[in-house]
Amino acid sequence: MTSTLTREPATAARTGPHLGTVAIVGGGCSGVLAARAITRDSAWRTVLISPESRPGRGVAYGAAEPWHLLNSRAAAMSADSGDPQHLLRWCRDRGRPAEPGDFLPRAWFGDYLADQFAAAAGPRLAHHRATAVGVRADGPRHIVTDDAGGEVRADHVILALGNPPPCVPSAVSDAARRDHAFIADPWAPGALEAVPADEPVLLLGTGLTAVDVALTLTRGARRVPVEALSRRGLPPLAHPRRPAPAVDLGLPASASLGPLVRRVREAVEAGADWTAVVDHVRTQADRLWSALDADAQARFLRHCQRHWEVHRHRMAPPVAARVADLREQGLLRLRAGRLTSIEPHPGGGLVVTVDGERPRRYAAVVTCTGPGPLPCSAGPLLSDLLADGLVRTGPHRLGIDTDTNGQARPGLWLVGPLRRGRLWEATAVPEIRAQADRLAAALPQPAGRHPRRAARLA
Ligand SMILES: Cc1cc2nc3c(=O)[nH]c(=O)nc-3n(C[C@H](O)[C@H](O)[C@H](O)COP(=O)(O)OP(=O)(O)OC[C@H]3O[C@@H](n4cnc5c(N)ncnc54)[C@H](O)[C@@H]3O)c2cc1C
Repeated sequence: MTSTLTREPATAARTGPHLGTVAIVGGGCSGVLAARAITRDSAWRTVLISPESRPGRGVAYGAAEPWHLLNSRAAAMSADSGDPQHLLRWCRDRGRPAEPGDFLPRAWFGDYLADQFAAAAGPRLAHHRATAVGVRADGPRHIVTDDAGGEVRADHVILALGNPPPCVPSAVSDAARRDHAFIADPWAPGALEAVPADEPVLLLGTGLTAVDVALTLTRGARRVPVEALSRRGLPPLAHPRRPAPAVDLGLPASASLGPLVRRVREAVEAGADWTAVVDHVRTQADRLWSALDADAQARFLRHCQRHWEVHRHRMAPPVAARVADLREQGLLRLRAGRLTSIEPHPGGGLVVTVDGERPRRYAAVVTCTGPGPLPCSAGPLLSDLLADGLVRTGPHRLGIDTDTNGQARPGLWLVGPLRRGRLWEATAVPEIRAQADRLAAALPQPAGRHPRRAARLA
């Protein structure tokens, strides 16, 4: 549903102060799950501000091709924490076969989220189709301004802006950044379409994004390998075909890393399935992360993060099989090395130098690294909020600092990957769903309204 606000002049894009309004900025998975939870649990009128015609898909599920699968089993991906079968029923109702252990097409999940928003939209939930360009305090409330000159006055504003984009490595020269052969965002519409199939291509990164991009670039008649480069050259590991039985390691909250690493090693050496161990640590990750002192967190980021990521962010088995096949055919090569420079090549393409190796020419270089650190990779809206002091970065510059419910300052909240200012696990659907539920529960009710009763009356 698109709000009538979007079609009217700036002054009409206002919500009166008497209504009790929550504005959510961002229409991906995080914004939609938060909108759904707030509409379900409270009496607020909610306005979701995002530029897409139908909120829900966001980056992860909007740009997905048919060969891109979820990297979590369907059973974990319900929009509703109280109803784990919800996604499965949605699929089956549409004639799309789905079992709890399946890794479904990512595009299906995008359709599902878009439907969840559409189903929740109504008198208390509207879509304001616009890009927010500013948020400013107005007494106890906030005003969100948009790119059409409109504004939404809200009692509470929730930022659901997604991951900060990757930072372009400093080894990439200014001229190379401007070169069309340098693809900074593989998810931008059409970004990979012009990549030639008969010339070498380099992916910066060897994680799940590099896997997605490699799958796309090798769909056609490619006979020249795609290379993927990272410091360690480690690809993600694969999910087992069937989930291993759950384990509980009784991990102690500790200020130092040593006891945790020892406990995990001992469990695996004693025969526990490593996937079950990692999945258990994931459920405890925020408690464990917040107990570590700043030095231990920094040591984890330096020495353990990449190993954690390849074990935690795993490929769906069919994707892992395809990757193995591509590597066997020589169409995908993983390389370990340190990038030292990328410059335009006079004959077209880019010249890449990796420490200790001779320079090589690539027809295209695609950034597939993870989200960049703040504030350098903050988009314009977040940069302004940081500059105005309305929000501040959390430790290690991974995200925005908030309280345990996601509140950065009175009336200004965050949901989604930017919560990594405080949390370790904040990017996947189960964690975002839990954040949305917690935020909705913590949000004060509109003055004078009893939550359940008000919601029924509205
Ligand atoms: C490729 C990929 C695959 C993934 N696969 C899985 C998976 O299989 N399982 C899993 O659990 N997790 C997966 N994830 C992780 C997770 O689902 C995503 O991190 C999650 O979808 C994040 O959603 P989001 O809404 O926070 O961000 P995004 O999807 O980035 O959405 C951000 C939204 O904010 C809007 N926006 C940004 N700035 C403004 C502004 N100024 N004004 C208005 N709107 C704005 C954008 O238009 C967009 O609607 C995946 C992530 C990626 C990137």
